[in-house]
Amino acid sequence: MTVKDIMKYIESEYNIITNTPCEMCGGNYLAENLQVNLINDMPFDVCSCICSHCGHEKAFEFYAPFIDEKNNKKFKKNLN
Ligand SMILES: [Zn+2]
Repeated sequence: MTVKDIMKYIESEYNIITNTPCEMCGGNYLAENLQVNLINDMPFDVCSCICSHCGHEKAFEFYAPFIDEKNNKKFKKNLN
């Protein structure tokens, strides 16, 4: 995985986060903290987000690094 791939991956994560409405009030989530962990040698991203409107906190979890258009849509579907 190249740095360019990682950037692309993180960009898609932020896209998903900004396109996900707050489950409490429908507001927008802001990414506070993005952490990349290795679990069983699989890169695993946890992004802590907070609703800009009501302050509701939510952790988005993403498996890295095999994001492509198809997976991106699948993630969106799962989150909505
Ligand atoms: Zn909210």
